[in-house]
Amino acid sequence: MKKQESDCISRQAVLEKIKEVCFSKEWAQFRVDNGSNGQRDFLINYIEQLSSVEPQPRKGYWIRWYEEEETDCGTEYDPHCKCSECGTEYDPHTSIFIHFCSNCGVELEENPYME
Ligand SMILES: [Zn+2]
Repeated sequence: MKKQESDCISRQAVLEKIKEVCFSKEWAQFRVDNGSNGQRDFLINYIEQLSSVEPQPRKGYWIRWYEEEETDCGTEYDPHCKCSECGTEYDPHTSIFIHFCSNCGVELEENPYME
């Protein structure tokens, strides 16, 4: 096995490799020569040779808004916030301490387009 910086590989690359390998002449020949164990090792060898990929962290941002609320003292504006990716609402007062959505896992940043 060659040295790899990252152990992550692409799902698409694995599927393409399996399709490629299973339709190859060598695949059928490996079955004849070495049985299913030989085929397994043949496939493992192929998967090990796939180049590694660096996973890109998914990013989301805070959506913040205010809801009007009529009270005895007049109109109050109640702050709200939610994750841009899954819509999970959080307490806006503690959201500055939250850096990842606990529901969908994205990294949450302040919306750069919102003042
Ligand atoms: Zn989320």
